[in-house]
Amino acid sequence: MRTDITKINEKTPYQDLTEGLMVFAGGTAKLFKTGEWRNNTPVWDSEKCRQCLLCTPCCPDSSIPVMSGRRGNFDYDHCKGCGICANVCPFGAITMKEGMEP
Ligand code: SF4
Ligand code: SF4
Repeated sequence: MRTDITKINEKTPYQDLTEGLMVFAGGTAKLFKTGEWRNNTPVWDSEKCRQCLLCTPCCPDSSIPVMSGRRGNFDYDHCKGCGICANVCPFGAITMKEGMEP
């Protein structure tokens, strides 16, 4: 359920990307690795991060994992690059980078 990400470029037709809005069975959303739709990519600076966890609930794609009360790095398989997390971070620990690679 995923395009070979190394073969995607500006000429890749949208039809070749992972489909959205298709549910074949319960609990399958994780298999749809729609991070390939991303045009911009958030980059996390763990040194600046104060673990306030404001960013996590704001992510519409649940792409900021929390383990033992601390956030981890982004789930780039599902992050769409919307930039909301970078906007809400009060400590400048997230910057947006052009392109789909962190
Ligand atoms: S850029 Fe958007 S989708 Fe990606 S982690 Fe941040 S809030 Fe979530
Ligand atoms: S909002 Fe910023 S400081 Fe707070 S957990 Fe997220 S990245 Fe870290």
